[in-house]
Amino acid sequence: MTTMESLIGLVNRIQMACTALGDYGATNNSFSLWDQLPSVAVVGGQSSGKSSVLESMVGRDFLPRGSGIVTRRPLVLQLHKTDEGQQEYAEFGHLPRTPFTDFSLVRKEIQDETDRITGKTRQISPVPIHLSIYSPNVVNLTLIDLPGLTKVAVEEQPESVVKDIEDMVRSYVEKPNCIILAISPANQDIATSDAIKLSREVDPTGERTFGVLTKLDLMDKGTNALDVLEGRAYRLQQPWVGIVNRSQADINKNVDMIYARRKEREYFASSPDYGHLASKMGSEYLAKLLSKHLESVIRAKIPGIISVINKSIDELESEMNLLGRPISVDAGVQLYTILELCRAFDKIFKEHLDGGRPGGDRIYGVFDNQLPAALRKLPFDRYLSMQNVRKIVSEADGYQPHLIAPEQGYRRLIEGALNYFRGPAEASVDAVHVVLKELVRKSVGECQELKRFPSLQSAICNSCSLI
Ligand code: GDP
Ligand code: MG
Repeated sequence: MTTMESLIGLVNRIQMACTALGDYGATNNSFSLWDQLPSVAVVGGQSSGKSSVLESMVGRDFLPRGSGIVTRRPLVLQLHKTDEGQQEYAEFGHLPRTPFTDFSLVRKEIQDETDRITGKTRQISPVPIHLSIYSPNVVNLTLIDLPGLTKVAVEEQPESVVKDIEDMVRSYVEKPNCIILAISPANQDIATSDAIKLSREVDPTGERTFGVLTKLDLMDKGTNALDVLEGRAYRLQQPWVGIVNRSQADINKNVDMIYARRKEREYFASSPDYGHLASKMGSEYLAKLLSKHLESVIRAKIPGIISVINKSIDELESEMNLLGRPISVDAGVQLYTILELCRAFDKIFKEHLDGGRPGGDRIYGVFDNQLPAALRKLPFDRYLSMQNVRKIVSEADGYQPHLIAPEQGYRRLIEGALNYFRGPAEASVDAVHVVLKELVRKSVGECQELKRFPSLQSAICNSCSLI
């Protein structure tokens, strides 16, 4: 039991982390860890007793109440069981490390936080409020309080509000991991129950729906709800649980919760109609039943949750590898990193030149084809013709008997010939330069480590083309 309690605690913490990250269920096709975890949502018509059921499971008054539409944003309520004798407190997701010990302030904060998103009007919003309650008097459970289903728009509500609420509630309860607490008042015919209508739609087999019947004490004298509670009127796979919450008069008189729970126990124990079901009725029994069910659901889900987590770890790891690890702020480490990156570039560049990667062969091409072809085209036949040699020699040295070699003439001949080489030689240098620059650009592009450093990339390209 202790391991399972800590397990539910773990799931609660994961849900809290999800909410902190803005993950309260996938809105599009994005991945959502939240959707992998089980939760319990309270569904029912307005004033069917949803808030009362939640409160009595927590054993505290803390939910805003009033006539009309009070719950206008989903409230994600996590109950954490603490050791006996510990101070009870509540904490909001949007106000971390701010424990509330006065539960009337919790109610006020829920109202204020609702207004912060929806404004003072009676608009609704699907953005949930996250509330954790730490108490020795609760079991570990995550409950979601949803706005009550209505039939008509009232006051300054837009006409769409009826459908908006239904859509929002459905978006929570249609998830296969959502356990539905379908609240119906006993003093209305079960055939008219909004909760049952919606839950049957999203959970036709009834395997994740818990039927809860409130207001048993308000039934007409001479009638009882045994047909429903014993599963004859509407069959669900889970047992029906009857509840007697505090009446409005009790609330007005500030009847405390512990007393109300005792009264509820007494009601069932002494009831001629429900006496034989007494051990399976009441809010405390409902809380235990839910907790047990949640345990078995989580137990069944663990392999799936682990594989989802592992899969997302793998995905994140590979994304991390692509992005690269964080770089230290230390200047020495940064310099080392830059040199490492340059080495990685250098290695690729060398491979292009020496083989392993393509491109370097074009440099051979310059010396093997382009340069020899250009040299062959040089007009040496003409330049070194007897006539031209004679002309240059006689222009340089004059007509004189050549006892000694015509040195000036030779010099001029050689200089002139060398000048012919200049053009093709320079063209080869330019061609090699172009190839090298292209290889630098290619190597920078192929260097995986440089991918996330665009400035270093252009710095390398620039300094290479300056050479
Ligand atoms: P919600 O709109 O579904 O959240 O309904 P509430 O929990 O606010 O309950 C609406 C009204 O019904 C309140 O005045 C409650 O006191 C009253 N109520 C709820 N459950 C019971 C019950 O089991 N017995 C009696 N007598 N009154 C109840
Ligand atoms: Mg309510």
